[in-house]
Amino acid sequence: MPSTPDAAAPGSAGPDRGRADACPGALRLHPADDGALARIRLPGGLLTSRQVTALADAAELLGDGAPEITSRGNVQLRGLRSDCGAELAERLRSVALLPSETHERVRNIVASPLAGLDGAGYADVQAWVRELDARLCRADWAPGLSGKFLFALDDGRGDVAALDADVTLIARPGGTALLRLGRSATARAVPAGQAVTAALDAARHFLAALRERGLAAWHLREVPDLLPPGGEELPDLPGTHPAPGVLPGGLSVGLRFGRADADRWRTLAAAAPDGVRLTPWRGAVLPGAAPGLLPELARAGFLTRPGTAWDRATACTGLPGCARSLADVRTDAVLALGRAEDAGLPVHWSGCERRCGHPAGRWVDVLATGQGYRVTPVGTPAPPVEVTTDEMAEAVAEARRTT
Ligand code: SF4
Repeated sequence: MPSTPDAAAPGSAGPDRGRADACPGALRLHPADDGALARIRLPGGLLTSRQVTALADAAELLGDGAPEITSRGNVQLRGLRSDCGAELAERLRSVALLPSETHERVRNIVASPLAGLDGAGYADVQAWVRELDARLCRADWAPGLSGKFLFALDDGRGDVAALDADVTLIARPGGTALLRLGRSATARAVPAGQAVTAALDAARHFLAALRERGLAAWHLREVPDLLPPGGEELPDLPGTHPAPGVLPGGLSVGLRFGRADADRWRTLAAAAPDGVRLTPWRGAVLPGAAPGLLPELARAGFLTRPGTAWDRATACTGLPGCARSLADVRTDAVLALGRAEDAGLPVHWSGCERRCGHPAGRWVDVLATGQGYRVTPVGTPAPPVEVTTDEMAEAVAEARRTT
């Protein structure tokens, strides 16, 4: 499977677990510089067309009008009025996007978005998503998890298994699954029918062991020896994730920086009568959507073909939405991507050293410094380079070609 090297980029600030977990939710709005921010958990990234429309309406009526996909396939609404919490909650409740008020922030579940769709012979993990979400929401211990604790349910192709989750299930042929804890190099084999129970047990044991030892941690990777890892080697999996275009079982599109205005989300809903699966790579898979709809989605502004410079290009909010930022990173990134011809390594622009939403694995870190940018190919031996904003496009293109 793809390696999951330390997701923290060079120079990242270390975690401070002494402070409360302030991760935003659908009910706990975060006061950002561009208004309040709500994060709505979507296990497996699954949305019905009606739910897509409801999110577009909520963003338009209560916020800045542009829902955005997060690095976990959830949705954020930004620029919300500070007094809109009750109305937002009611809108979410009316379309079943708020099944538990006590557990809403811990429903962090990513799943292989192509599971059961592309005829590649991998397991269909959608049933795991529904079972895990339902049981998590009924578990009285679960609200003790951090709002950042992540479950990854991989259909066997290794896509979400590379996302640095706390608890990862990897389906295997023959009715078994591997349970991987944090960044452990080994895993434990479990019957597929008991995989969800094993994942929940791991999360519960994590909380119990922290309590017993008087430790504070949000992630299993912070306390790697806390739980026994299992004795099976991790398999070498392809790790491919959906590229924009036509799939055997539908369509796949990308959203620039994961963001689209409400009308574009409505266009997506109309093209996807069977619902959408949002991906942790800021895209959407549309099961059953007709290939003939792709040109219309391209005209609406979605990314519909693979291999462009926008492939796996992301950026944090930056200025003006985040006062910590040293630059308007999205504007700078758009200019740089417009001058690039092809893709290469994933790339992420950050306005400060927190590097919100950066990818895992090998990627190009483009960090605002106040004088320009520092460009670092993370997970490779290539050294960082300091460049001006004008020089940044060329430096990024070269770093993305790093092998
Ligand atoms: S990385 Fe820094 S500048 Fe960017 S959104 Fe996060 S805190 Fe703000």
